[in-house]
Amino acid sequence: MTNIINIFKNKSKYTNSIFHKVRKILQDNGYEVSNYYNKNAFLNLVIGGDGAFLNAVHLSNFSSIPFIGINTGHLGFYQEIEVNMLEEFVKDLKNGNYKIEELTVLESEVNRKTLNAINEVVVKSKKNQIIRVKVFIDGNFIESYSGDGLIISTPHGSTAYNLSANGAILHQSLNGFQLTPIAPVYSNLNKSLKCPVVLPNDASIEISVSRRDNYHTVFIFDGREFFTKDFKIKISVSPKKINKLILNKNHYWANIKNKLMWLLKGYCIKYISYYIFSYRRSNFSPCALAIFNYYW
Ligand code: NAP
Ligand code: MN
Repeated sequence: MTNIINIFKNKSKYTNSIFHKVRKILQDNGYEVSNYYNKNAFLNLVIGGDGAFLNAVHLSNFSSIPFIGINTGHLGFYQEIEVNMLEEFVKDLKNGNYKIEELTVLESEVNRKTLNAINEVVVKSKKNQIIRVKVFIDGNFIESYSGDGLIISTPHGSTAYNLSANGAILHQSLNGFQLTPIAPVYSNLNKSLKCPVVLPNDASIEISVSRRDNYHTVFIFDGREFFTKDFKIKISVSPKKINKLILNKNHYWANIKNKLMWLLKGYCIKYISYYIFSYRRSNFSPCALAIFNYYW
């Protein structure tokens, strides 16, 4: 094992200041820092938010060198190290106080090209239009779907776009992936499946876009749009994995609790108080209601 660490960062000034700080700590501890992707490195260190993490994974072409991230003020679901933990992180790194977790990678075939994603693959319109597609799972025709589109997400990606589209949070240790509809149409004309479907690791999904929607449908890999004239995509779990260093074994639940649950709690408080207010609406002055509406 070498002592080389590749650093990936986003363009923010704050990230840059953290970069200088962590570089100094790493160098003081005998590590060599590389500003470009060096295939002999033993670690890929990403400074920024989840966007920076996804970028680093794509830029390094889904490198097998383990990743770890420093969160510089974004949601940072993938970014375990907070900026006040830099010294602690380097100490843990030196002492080997970490474990390696494997993240699922999706593999898609479009027009004989292979494209990878770690959050999700999205099939949707680049215009404000419905797309009509046929969905096959393991070669079996499942449904004719109409709606905004479909999300195929990994367990780690399940807390991103998938969650906003009412998909389930899949635990990180599950071997599988999820198909979630975005605003499915359910009418006399179209009866699209309205709920998410969780599939095992060896399943494959084939989506075939109707010819009439072909010209405005895009395939998106972790937010990166891929334009093609082809109208078929086949998605399965790749044999590739992304290795991620984990310092705190409770990181996953800490993330769910601190970065997602407070939102849920906020909504609960909002709706409970809204119902109390609505119920007693007649007892409140317009001024009190205006203040309530302003704060929520
Ligand atoms: P972005 O527009 O900044 O991402 C949207 C938000 O998703 C950011 O807050 C990002 O965290 C967070 N995020 C990314 N991956 C996550 C994960 N695995 N779990 C929980 N949150 C996650 O664009 P971006 O940073 O390049 O991220 C691309 C991702 O955005 C896509 O892969 C897709 O999942 C997501 N997206 C979501 C929606 C939606 O929710 N309606 C729509 C389009 C795309 P940071 O703030 O740390 O970057
Ligand atoms: Mn982002």
